[in-house]
Amino acid sequence: MQARSAEIAIIGAGPAGAHLASRLAAEGHDVVLFDPKGAWEKPCGGGVPTRAIREFAFILESSSYPRKLVRQITMISPLERRVTLTLDRPFAVYSRQVLNSLVLDRAVEAGATFVREAVLEFSREVDGWTISTDAGNQWRARFLVGADGAASFTRRRLIGIFPKRDLALAFGYNIAGEDTETAPGSNGNSGTHRIGPSTDEVVVRFPRDFTGYLWAFPRPGVMNFGVASKLGERTSNELRTLLTDFVSGYYGGRMPMPERVSFFGAKIPTLDLASWKDLHASGDGWALIGDAAGFADPITGEGIYYAFKSADLFADALRESRRGNGSPSVYQFAAGSYENMWRDAFGRDLEHASYRLPHFYHGRFVGRIFTDAMIMLARHHRGVRTILGRALVGEQSYVTLKRDLLRRALQVF
Ligand SMILES: Cc1cc2nc3c(=O)[nH]c(=O)nc-3n(C[C@H](O)[C@H](O)[C@H](O)COP(=O)(O)OP(=O)(O)OC[C@H]3O[C@@H](n4cnc5c(N)ncnc54)[C@H](O)[C@@H]3O)c2cc1C
Repeated sequence: MQARSAEIAIIGAGPAGAHLASRLAAEGHDVVLFDPKGAWEKPCGGGVPTRAIREFAFILESSSYPRKLVRQITMISPLERRVTLTLDRPFAVYSRQVLNSLVLDRAVEAGATFVREAVLEFSREVDGWTISTDAGNQWRARFLVGADGAASFTRRRLIGIFPKRDLALAFGYNIAGEDTETAPGSNGNSGTHRIGPSTDEVVVRFPRDFTGYLWAFPRPGVMNFGVASKLGERTSNELRTLLTDFVSGYYGGRMPMPERVSFFGAKIPTLDLASWKDLHASGDGWALIGDAAGFADPITGEGIYYAFKSADLFADALRESRRGNGSPSVYQFAAGSYENMWRDAFGRDLEHASYRLPHFYHGRFVGRIFTDAMIMLARHHRGVRTILGRALVGEQSYVTLKRDLLRRALQVF
């Protein structure tokens, strides 16, 4: 069988892979993008942080793809203290099928070849790679990019899977909305939630002695609920019980009818502090982007911004290295620059988040459980609310979070 060829092969058409394909195709590269699922409802909250919609303006500009703009976040502490933050700049919540379509449609419009097949195997050749798919097709490419998510097959074959300590386990429910139904709420302020398209508020709950949190995210026509925690800390049953209690509490003590409910579960890379030091996202003829590279916030599990950003950085690195006009050294140079670029752009901040993680979920601040203290201070001080709001939408550096909170907190007294 004759192998087809492309200059760059990208495995996985989530936000990372599809965005990279669209950037590279728009800049004249011959790109093939593989994904057996196309645009699909990937298990996810679908929260696209403010920083992502600011830096990647095309997301909101693509107005025919429905999303919810959220300005209100209610946080509930382990001691049941509550605060509602009103954000200066909203963040967006998408169904993942819609978000993935948005990015994949752009890639195809830009000229990328989309192949709805899974990559089953790849091997190194003198001048590139041979790639085999589950449909029995073969491709040849000069450069290989792994954008195939937290369980990345590409990563497994090139450098090995993430160890357990580098992952979080997440479960969730998508619950189809009913425009007319209302239910008592757990947000503590309004008293009732309107279920369905008119619900505009996110709820985040921090359980006690727990490395993670529960969330309720409104999407157009659907409520998305989830729980995420460090892998191995709680059993699957414990997580499901916590989640079910949270959801039924949200709906006034009962779970919605089963026909409205769909369950999901997946892992999120949440790298341990020690793992950042030796983390590599590229090598001889290859690069990893998005979840496959380990790029998600260890504290929040938020990875959509880093999927887009790492794709963008790799595209920038390749553009800057292009002087050699397709010679192998161009890719070598690009892979090397990409490594420096992701560390500068967000790697150090994420590493710092890993350092902060134990303190965030289990530490103490002004004599109280950290998250409880944050919420208590936020109730009384607008400055603390501003910092917290920024942290929640990905606009606050972890390196300065403690200092900034402390400064604002000291202004309270
Ligand atoms: C429950 C949960 C909730 C989350 N909530 C949020 C949130 O609210 N906000 C946020 O920012 N982040 C959230 N995340 C993280 C977010 O989902 C990921 O960080 C993001 O999807 C990463 O994008 P990606 O393109 O790197 O990978 P993915 O979106 O995982 O895409 C990988 C793609 O690769 C494809 N693929 C896999 N194997 C192959 C193969 N062999 N051949 C071809 N294709 C393949 C898959 O079909 C998939 O489409 C959440 C994660 C989970 C699990």
